[in-house]
Amino acid sequence: MEFDLIERIRQRAASRREDVLLGIGDDAALLQPPPGHVLAVALDTLLEGVHFPVATAPADIGYKALAVNLSDLAAMGATPAWALMSLSLPHSEQRFVDRLLDGFMELAAPYRLALVGGDTVRGPLAVSVTVHGLVPDGQALRRSGARPGDAVFVTGTLGDAAAGLACLDHARVDADRLLGAAPESRRKLVARLNRPEPRIAAGQMLRGIATACIDVSDGLVADLGHLCAASGVGAHVDADALPLSSSLLTLFAGQARDLGLAGGDDYELCFTAPAERAGALVADLARMGCGATRIGRIVEGDAVIVKDAAGKAMKLPSSGWDHFR
Ligand code: ADP
Ligand code: MG
Repeated sequence: MEFDLIERIRQRAASRREDVLLGIGDDAALLQPPPGHVLAVALDTLLEGVHFPVATAPADIGYKALAVNLSDLAAMGATPAWALMSLSLPHSEQRFVDRLLDGFMELAAPYRLALVGGDTVRGPLAVSVTVHGLVPDGQALRRSGARPGDAVFVTGTLGDAAAGLACLDHARVDADRLLGAAPESRRKLVARLNRPEPRIAAGQMLRGIATACIDVSDGLVADLGHLCAASGVGAHVDADALPLSSSLLTLFAGQARDLGLAGGDDYELCFTAPAERAGALVADLARMGCGATRIGRIVEGDAVIVKDAAGKAMKLPSSGWDHFR
């Protein structure tokens, strides 16, 4: 690919991490993991029209491509260290890549994450990021440790990103209402879609406390289902306990609970811990600026059952996953 484009990426990716022995420019990066740690490695691809809407700002694409990957590290309790980025571009446009890197670097900087390599090809617009994180030996969080009696928690609020996507869907029957009403709420929901906040600090804090953890990318019921399957347990969720934002309730009152249960792309953490630790855990996370809510409990069996206020099992909305336009 064009030398200029890669040279530009190299200049902007210059990092001061001492564990980067060699960054962009050779055939491979040379990285020095610290002793006493394991590497947590994850890769996620964002494809235009599938994982972000056509017409998403390039800076938002760069931000989100890194954010969804950091969310996977958060769910493992890992500390971000290095990333590789594969760019597939329909045109090799310097300005587009610069804006994309603006968003990527804005999120990378506070974590001192170094972009150490990648690949650049011509093709449909897509961004793949591979992240490498560090976890002290034996302390990584997994999906598989939940036990009957554990409490189930979720960070932040749910359903906002799916609602943000709905706000961008001009074909909706209520598009005019969504455009006209509560612009601040609308802006917040769209920001949750385009700029998810990976819960890195919460994941690190949960090491040695959470019995299992997963990030919510496909929707709460689906992802809690994955956690339960990995742990060989079931779960009861109290629908009325779901944390829903005021923006979501303002614009989507009637659908808020279903969006919270099934909406994807929120990138909050869903985790389990012994019930007797619930109070202190929620207080500690709140002190860190990361709200967390107890939403249910782990039971024997293999089903995720959502109960209404009367304790009756609810019929669940279909999965939140949807094609972006
Ligand atoms: P090679 O043919 O050895 O794969 P490339 O021309 O693809 O070399 O890449 C040259 C250097 O630029 C390598 O160090 C590679 O990691 C880096 N690089 C290429 N594309 C990107 C990208 N999108 N982001 C970060 N680094 C990149
Ligand atoms: Mg290459």
